Amino acid sequence: MATNGVSNGTSKVLDASKALDLLKEYESRDGLSVTDLLDSKLRGGLTYNDFLILPGYIGFPASEVTLDSKITRNISLKVPLVSSPMDTVTETDMAIHMALLGGVGIIHHNCSAEEQAEMVRKVKRYENGFILDPVVLSPSHTIKDVREVKEKQGFAGIPITENGTLSSKLVGMVTMRDIQFVRDLDTPLKNVMTPRSELVTAKQGIDLNEANAILQKCKKGKLPIVDSNDNLTALLSRSDLMKNHNFPLASKVTASKQLLCGAAVGTRPDDRNRLKKLVDAGLDVVIVDSSQGNSIFQIEMIKWIKQTFSHIDVIGGNVVTREQAAALIAAGADGLRIGMGSGSACITQEVMAVGRPQAQAIYSVCEFAARFGVPCMADGGVQNVGHIIKGLALGASTVMMGGLLAGTTESPGKYFLSEKGQLVKAYRGMGSIDAMESQKTGENAATGRYFSESDKILVAQGVSGSVADRGSVTKFVPYLQAGMQHSLQDIGVKSVTELKENVMNGTVRFEVRTASAQMEGNVHGLHSFEKRLYSS
Ligand code: GDP
Ligand code: GDP
Ligand code: 5GP
Repeated sequence: MATNGVSNGTSKVLDASKALDLLKEYESRDGLSVTDLLDSKLRGGLTYNDFLILPGYIGFPASEVTLDSKITRNISLKVPLVSSPMDTVTETDMAIHMALLGGVGIIHHNCSAEEQAEMVRKVKRYENGFILDPVVLSPSHTIKDVREVKEKQGFAGIPITENGTLSSKLVGMVTMRDIQFVRDLDTPLKNVMTPRSELVTAKQGIDLNEANAILQKCKKGKLPIVDSNDNLTALLSRSDLMKNHNFPLASKVTASKQLLCGAAVGTRPDDRNRLKKLVDAGLDVVIVDSSQGNSIFQIEMIKWIKQTFSHIDVIGGNVVTREQAAALIAAGADGLRIGMGSGSACITQEVMAVGRPQAQAIYSVCEFAARFGVPCMADGGVQNVGHIIKGLALGASTVMMGGLLAGTTESPGKYFLSEKGQLVKAYRGMGSIDAMESQKTGENAATGRYFSESDKILVAQGVSGSVADRGSVTKFVPYLQAGMQHSLQDIGVKSVTELKENVMNGTVRFEVRTASAQMEGNVHGLHSFEKRLYSS
């Protein structure tokens, strides 16, 4: 029998020490290259479950595997996971936690521009280095004012200046402890504040390391920063040191230490005003949200954004072909979002007959976009860690999830009991009748991803339903992360970059899964079993 031109004749048993040398005599490595795998003329369009990645050589512990990857030309994440801009997935809480855990959240736009901007603002305010625009009050403000700040913004550590604004003379500091037991809410702050003479402060110009060291040493909760005239210029908070300590992978803007935040907008004229508000709130990255991104509307929107806000990175999409990708890259997109009809709550392929199997789409678009240094996001259809790795192996730099995150504590909405008595949360496609009607009738601005104002009949491209409780993303995302590290270890690569390089140079190999191979690869033959994915 001859394999790849190498005779393994039956009579002669080779010396075991020559095993590795013999490999060199084969024409190619075992398994398929990515181009052979995804030759659609041979096999039709593949998706995640249709193939496997072959194992490589493990010469390092899983903990050494790094997952750093780019989401756009200019922004990198330590964990390449993104939560989808859907109204049952990403609002403030999800965006904060995705960023703390090393990924990023994209805030949906099925709400008014003001509401969306407020969510962005809250994410950006959540963690800080120097707080350059702290909330400040004057000695004549009252305890009621502090309580209001606490209720609206979540903190009560407030510097008091002569006239109640930044850049005015620091005269004291109020914290929760100063007001906790005071019954009369009209008590002026001058009666309860810690006076200037007792405050530990630092001088403007101090660097963050030094300021943090003072804060740690003095054991106070806040460190006001003042200029040479004792005017307040910034504030430092002890709780930010804890956040930094507890979430070492957090996605942050280097200079400000604020969390990265993304948001989605549509392509209507109104969306330009919406984006202005989001940028004012501190937005870092915007996704132009269309189910079919290759349109005159999106191309003009991307061009306008790049001209108007050169510091904001734009992700265009969705696309599934290289021709669509080319148009958005030429318009100036800093990243692309890939997927059409692969989402778990999506019926586009069935209704519109348009779309593409996700694996094929990822490979086609990423192979092309990589030549222009444009990172791509695999969006939709991700059901487990294996799908995430497959998306990355085919060239995606990040992976976006909707349904997988919708059942977590941090997604919008409340848990409820399903008919079967399981704890679930609502999850709906943004093109479901449910979501579209709320866009059309509410006072909210429409997302318009799936319909135009003139449409008389809404044609659904998604369904609405529910997903099972998954606990908190603070457990679930670290599970996905650890799973990814173990997977890359099995493949024999130490980073996402190495994975992609080794796929392209043919070192990482693939195999197609037949229907029975897929059955074999899942739990089978057991009378009963419980599928617990991780312990915490
Ligand atoms: P990092 O610890 O990975 O952020 O490394 P950096 O070199 O960026 O941090 C510089 C200094 O800033 C270190 O003393 C950090 O502990 C501190 N630092 C990092 N993030 C924050 C933050 O959100 N707030 C504050 N106050 N300090 C921070
Ligand atoms: P506080 O002691 O009640 O002020 O609250 P914490 O110290 O527990 O939390 C304050 C958090 O809010 C920190 O992460 C700050 O970075 C953040 N923050 C954002 N803007 C402001 C602000 O204007 N003032 C204060 N005190 N904190 C702010
Ligand atoms: P999932 O992670 O649940 O499989 O997919 C999430 C993705 O599905 C979203 O990021 C978005 O691209 C896509 N999506 C969300 N709602 C709809 C919808 O109603 N119709 C379609 N075709 N796609 C949707």
